[in-house]
Amino acid sequence: MRAVRIGEVTVEAGQSGVAAVNVARMPRGDDLEITIHVVNGAKEGPTLGLACTSHGDEAYAILVIGEVLKRVDPKALSGRILAIPVLNPVAFESGTRLTTVSMITNEDNLNTVFPGDPEGSLAARMAHAIKQEFADRVDCLLDFHCGGVDSDINYTLAKECEGKLAATMDGVIRAYGSRIVQYYTTMAISMSPATTLADVVLARGMPALAPMCGGGPTYLSKPEVLDKAVEGVLNVMRHLGMIAGRSVPAAEQLIVKTKRVIRHRHGGYFIPIVGNGATTSTVPGGTLLGKTISPYTFEVLEEIKAPFAPTVLIMTRACLSRVSPGDYAYIVADGASAVTRKA
Ligand SMILES: [Zn+2]
Repeated sequence: MRAVRIGEVTVEAGQSGVAAVNVARMPRGDDLEITIHVVNGAKEGPTLGLACTSHGDEAYAILVIGEVLKRVDPKALSGRILAIPVLNPVAFESGTRLTTVSMITNEDNLNTVFPGDPEGSLAARMAHAIKQEFADRVDCLLDFHCGGVDSDINYTLAKECEGKLAATMDGVIRAYGSRIVQYYTTMAISMSPATTLADVVLARGMPALAPMCGGGPTYLSKPEVLDKAVEGVLNVMRHLGMIAGRSVPAAEQLIVKTKRVIRHRHGGYFIPIVGNGATTSTVPGGTLLGKTISPYTFEVLEEIKAPFAPTVLIMTRACLSRVSPGDYAYIVADGASAVTRKA
């Protein structure tokens, strides 16, 4: 691959490097930068983009990206990896989903403000820099989202595409190999249409998906999730011809059609009954998933039950946690309308 220059850093063929893209000067005097890892292959090939932490509390896949970068030798690589472990350093610092400094606007969700605006909100400025220096250069994108400190998630979210791109997307989705996949037509967050990082790449006719994996409770209790995600990325790289070896598509994937986000109705102290060990499994309709009690009176404020017969668990709230009304409790899908797809 020819040399690539990002920010002040040039990375030659067969070399790795770390670049920083300047976004803005922050109030305390430091520069907000987006860190981009570059693994520039010795041989020609596609550019794979890996990204994580556009929501600041969804940090688990930082470990996935770190492990992939450790395992890939630029001298044996055909193509290039561009990787951003922390898309939103401001939200990561505050440990929050959204960008919590600056004037609060409806543009604080980095995940929904692409392609960004160099004269827009702080999140929109970050999105613009990420588009220019990262998204516009990649031929395939995996934009990881994860559970937060108290939740575990595991599925792949992918846009329903047409024609040639649909087949290309399919190949990457099967190679990454999530057990559960959901295709969407229009991304909507709380009823507002959203343009994500993946949408920016898809608009250029390139495959882009959002694998969701892990979360705070997952790291110690389910170490296989990290191994499987790393293997999924390496398998995508084999599929794209970037590293040696034969890509093996997932033997079987569950394509879910009807998905529901169950939110807490009342604030209080949440006691899980079905937790992260059960993510990606199916439970009978009516199964008690967890309950919220008043920490003041011990009264049971809410019992959360599996709504579908059967219910596929996509995200579980896995820890004892203080919850507020409207927080995500579980993400589930209707098992009856789900379809198993074989390799
Ligand atoms: Zn997210």
